[in-house]
Amino acid sequence: MTEITECSCNNKVEYTFEQQNVCKNCFLRLFKNRIKRALSEKKLRKDSIVLIENECAAQLVKEIIPLPLRIVSKANTYDAQIVTDTLDDEAIDFLEQLPSTDEKNVIKIFKYVSENEVIQYATIKRYKFTPKPKNKFWKEFLDAFKKYPDMQNNLVRNIQELKKLKK
Ligand SMILES: [Zn+2]
Repeated sequence: MTEITECSCNNKVEYTFEQQNVCKNCFLRLFKNRIKRALSEKKLRKDSIVLIENECAAQLVKEIIPLPLRIVSKANTYDAQIVTDTLDDEAIDFLEQLPSTDEKNVIKIFKYVSENEVIQYATIKRYKFTPKPKNKFWKEFLDAFKKYPDMQNNLVRNIQELKKLKK
């Protein structure tokens, strides 16, 4: 088997997105589409005070949301909060049967991308991203799935669907 060294757009492969080898441009496009999807699920109003502690997330919000927002990194009161839970965190919360933390004014900006994808993005853009600490057992459980890309993708998709049913 020959190793894939070219992206479907013929550029050089440098990153992975959902276990596909892709070039930098395609990676950034695919990544941003997922962030757009997460951000579009809850409406932010013009001039809302939005609490975002992570710089990488704050920059993405500025790039994607055309409205003027008041983005703050510290606040006691705010209209919405953007947190950096990834798809991995979502999966673990579900597996641990934690109550759904999808609060009304909380947006999980990385819920449709894996931790590995956020780390790649942060590296490209030179942002600091520290993954949420994870229980070792579940971390190993999720890592084991990575050998089976289809299974991993199905698992997280099913979790998204099951979460909707639980509400
Ligand atoms: Zn490409």
